[in-house]
Amino acid sequence: MYKSILAFVFIAISNVAIAKNDSIPSIHIVEKPISYSEERKKLSVEYLQNRHGLNLQKPIITPKIIVLHFTDGGTIKSVFNYFNSTTIESGRSYNKKQSNLNVSSHYLIDRDGTIYHLLADTLFARHTIGLNYCAIGIENIGSVSNPLTDKQVAANIALINYLSKKYPIEYVIGHSEYGKFRKTPLWKETDQTYYTGKTDPGESFLKQVREGIKGLKVNSSY
Ligand SMILES: [Zn+2]
Repeated sequence: MYKSILAFVFIAISNVAIAKNDSIPSIHIVEKPISYSEERKKLSVEYLQNRHGLNLQKPIITPKIIVLHFTDGGTIKSVFNYFNSTTIESGRSYNKKQSNLNVSSHYLIDRDGTIYHLLADTLFARHTIGLNYCAIGIENIGSVSNPLTDKQVAANIALINYLSKKYPIEYVIGHSEYGKFRKTPLWKETDQTYYTGKTDPGESFLKQVREGIKGLKVNSSY
């Protein structure tokens, strides 16, 4: 009896410890939703059909991949305004030919590490060819000449940790690495020639983020 009580107490304590480790960490996220109008929903469902070959009634994704980006310039205000438009600008004719849906991302992180949440994690966003149907996009204000900051590294690590506790995330990649998925079953793009070379978010940034998430069971390639 005494032993079984001890065993029970031990199991109870272990369970508490496990539950604590698996719980969703609390991080500060600023809600700043972009417009997800009926037209955006329609264009997203069409993108899922025409580009990814997926016939869905609603523009909903099951997040499996997190793709890290930088914005190549701009500020929170200018990038927010850019993503807030439903249709893609005429200047981006190569992308516009494939779909009139504008680009966007789920999160946008400022240089001081503030995390802005632009649209629900399970809503469709156009940010990574071939993988949008299962990818959460995290944009960071920065560029090659304005490299991402230590505070952005820390914010990305915290956000990835948070998201990987909420969703079955299997991969965390830089936009520059998405081409590695082209020959895998995860790649869904009906036009095999539709591809653009990317360099964001930068090697050094990726290395630092990976160092911070090495405790997570996520892969960097297929
Ligand atoms: Zn990108």
